Amino acid sequence: MQNIHIFDTTLRDGEQSPGVNLNQLEKLEIARQLERFGVNVMEAGFPASSQGDFEAVRTIARTVRNVSIAGLSRATKNDIDTSWEALKEAEAPRLHLFIATSPIHMTYKLKKSPEQVTQLAVDMVRYAKAKFPQIEWSAEDASRSDLDFLVQIIEKVIDAGATVINLPDTVGYATPAEYGRMFRYVKENVRNIDKAILSAHCHDDLGLAMANSLAAIENGATQVEGTINGIGERAGNAALEEFAVALGIRKDQFPFSTGLNLKEIKRTSDLVRKLTGMPIAPNKAVVGQNAFAHESGIHQDGVLKHPQTYEIINPSMVGIESNELVLGKHSGRHAFKEKIERLGFSLTEEKSEEAFRQFKSLTDRKKEVTDEDLFTILTDIQTAVSDVKKYELLAYQVQSGSINLPTATVALTTPDGMRTETARTGKGPVEALYNTLEALIKEEIHLTKYQLSSVGQGRDALAEVHVKMIVNELPVSGRGSSHDVLEASAKAFLNAVNRVFYGQTTKVLQTANS
Ligand SMILES: [Zn+2]
Repeated sequence: MQNIHIFDTTLRDGEQSPGVNLNQLEKLEIARQLERFGVNVMEAGFPASSQGDFEAVRTIARTVRNVSIAGLSRATKNDIDTSWEALKEAEAPRLHLFIATSPIHMTYKLKKSPEQVTQLAVDMVRYAKAKFPQIEWSAEDASRSDLDFLVQIIEKVIDAGATVINLPDTVGYATPAEYGRMFRYVKENVRNIDKAILSAHCHDDLGLAMANSLAAIENGATQVEGTINGIGERAGNAALEEFAVALGIRKDQFPFSTGLNLKEIKRTSDLVRKLTGMPIAPNKAVVGQNAFAHESGIHQDGVLKHPQTYEIINPSMVGIESNELVLGKHSGRHAFKEKIERLGFSLTEEKSEEAFRQFKSLTDRKKEVTDEDLFTILTDIQTAVSDVKKYELLAYQVQSGSINLPTATVALTTPDGMRTETARTGKGPVEALYNTLEALIKEEIHLTKYQLSSVGQGRDALAEVHVKMIVNELPVSGRGSSHDVLEASAKAFLNAVNRVFYGQTTKVLQTANS
């Protein structure tokens, strides 16, 4: 069976999703999980785009050792040098160098002739070769490029030292037949193509990202790029968990293997959803909440008689376990520690203590603490920033009802360690709370999005709040969870504000290869 390399770009293309903003600790947590999932390459970021991204890529390169780490770079010496600084300590560093090759991009965006683009591509690959052992070269907007021009430029960049050739469908325009044809054409016409591996990178603007990725491997691509949950620019990228399961279930049609551990799909998807704040549609393939739910009586009856009548994917294949062991009031430290490990966390002694304390406090309010609850608490603790000056919630009280004006009182400690408190009103309890927080915090804050969801089911479920805001002109996002909706709201607000003080990855504003 042909092995397909998996190139994950959740931390680069995925992070380019509108409104997504991860800090270093969150990126690192996702990177560790991608390693467990078994990807071959992870694109950790775009080092030249911001100091925050540079540092996140460097931290991942130093920490994650069993996966090749890549960084995105435009065709400039400065981008290449910056990427090298960020990646040089990685076990297997890879440069992902791109330049556009379609007439529309070359004429209007780059304002360069095809000859100039070819020269620049060759020069930059050669320049990078002195540093990087692996160079992936991308022909941005390949699917709208002239095929013979592609053949010429690819031949030259391979001669210059490129080891991977990526042909992205940057704008999600290609159809499967067309995209497959491009790979076949390149495979058959590029003289030195055996010196490089061919890679597919698809966007989902027409809902064809998965179909196009499959067409690519049927026509010579041996690397596929994508993201977890399909997040990414605009309509997103090909979803790697869908790709992996499609290959797994339809081996008869797709004689390909990957090194992915399908059992890690649920955890990977949950973590990315939680940390990015990008919700998943209930009907999304493989990881949607309803992906394994059977509503109609006829279907339920069929599944009871023989699961495969209506269920082509066994939920346990993707790591969904039905017989989860819930913890409660009487669960002790030992059971709790075992649970932490089974949920895939390795916490420091200090964080483990904090987790146990929060778990115990939750059992006072909730009879059964589910895996979902614990996953939320543990993720929050694992990505919490310590040893850094920040705003911290000391106490809050909110009064609200149909007769009185909703009023909130909040006490905080400020980054310089002072205690401060005040009260404000609002049209509703959340607004009152947020007006109060805004009055206490010196930064300039503009809230752009507020999203409330529940973790699991039942009236005692944990509340989870995601917010997006502009703090001192920086777009940031924040999240918080609690048994109390208002406390979760306050935590999310402060979590976002505090990002200004720590490892904030500012958004990639330049055009990136997508
Ligand atoms: Zn992309």
